[in-house]
Amino acid sequence: MTQQALPILPPAMLGILGGGQLGSMFTVAAKTMGYGVTVLDPDPHAPAARFADRHLCAAFDDDKALAELEKCAAVTTEFENVNAAAMRELARHTRVSPSGDCVAVAQNRITEKARMRAAGLQTVEYREILSADDVDESCAALLPAIVKTATLGYDGKGQIRVKTLDEARAAFAGLGGVPCVLEQMADLRGEISVIVCRLDAQHAAAYDAAENHHENGILAYSVVPARLPENVQQQARQTALHLAEALDYVGVLAVEMFVVGDDKRLLVNEIAPRPHNSGHHTIDACAASQFQQQVRLMCGLPPADTRLHSPCCMANILGDVWGADGAQPCWTAVLDEAAAHLHLYGKKQARAGRKMGHFTVLADDADAAFEAARAMRGKLP
Ligand code: ADP
Ligand code: MG
Repeated sequence: MTQQALPILPPAMLGILGGGQLGSMFTVAAKTMGYGVTVLDPDPHAPAARFADRHLCAAFDDDKALAELEKCAAVTTEFENVNAAAMRELARHTRVSPSGDCVAVAQNRITEKARMRAAGLQTVEYREILSADDVDESCAALLPAIVKTATLGYDGKGQIRVKTLDEARAAFAGLGGVPCVLEQMADLRGEISVIVCRLDAQHAAAYDAAENHHENGILAYSVVPARLPENVQQQARQTALHLAEALDYVGVLAVEMFVVGDDKRLLVNEIAPRPHNSGHHTIDACAASQFQQQVRLMCGLPPADTRLHSPCCMANILGDVWGADGAQPCWTAVLDEAAAHLHLYGKKQARAGRKMGHFTVLADDADAAFEAARAMRGKLP
């Protein structure tokens, strides 16, 4: 099939690998802009299937389904653990962004950290642990540390905190002896993320940094703008843009950073080659949402305005607030508030820790937004 000339315009059909909440919000953005959407997801109840023109309900490596996806004018992904080889194969037939190579970097903490360092960016001190022998004296200086599997970790899973080399060896074995990194525990003063939208060297933009608060390893709140000095905020955006440039990245890229020490130094932690949970506020509080940007960039259009309209706080709604009998939370806690915007993903089954929805509260300043979001979230169960 010949590739479509850029930019790809409505009513072209766009494809996405994955139909969870990120795929769902992408689909709404694309449909609103007049594009068609084909979603590939093995779950018959995939959230994105509510809005897509076509749901290919098949495995991500299903040849027939991938052959259908190839017919789309452009293809993107909602998650990083997609087969990078399948993405490269798709790219022989249609426009794919981000590239399979960029997705592969994000899939593996070892390559990810190496690429960050090669780009001249600071990360935590770390060692690659490919066998138990790699837990040697050189690791002692990094204790206390965290041992993380190189691949497939998310929401704090696949990580064990260690204080001694013996604990580190036990952690490596406990994680199945798969390739790992041993990271020095950083003196965290905060965690932030910046979402970058990049088409090419001339067309790149970054959103304001989000200040992220986790509970049990899962993102609970993102406060925007991050409550940091202006020079640190600016440095965060520059760092994220620089990394996107170094990766020659096309699409929406989330860059997570640690803020460490009294001098609030930034260390790059990890990247996600897609819109990110910490960017959901862009739907209600920014000129263009991260999902509109994903549509634009995959179509070869430059990023739209990333400006923040109002300080805000995004709060995740987890399955924990559903009753044991499946009873819904008290939605009026959010819906009664004029400054709050509720988003529910339409997932059939609520489970502890499962992301079921989020809401974003706008306020006069970041402190007030955070306070309001915490009060509302507390009233949900
Ligand atoms: P993932 O989000 O893929 O589960 P992360 O590397 O972001 O993995 O780690 C999850 C959380 O664990 C971070 O958001 C941070 O709170 C904490 N954490 C991870 N690595 C370190 C570190 N080296 N020092 C201090 N805290 C860390
Ligand atoms: Mg993370």
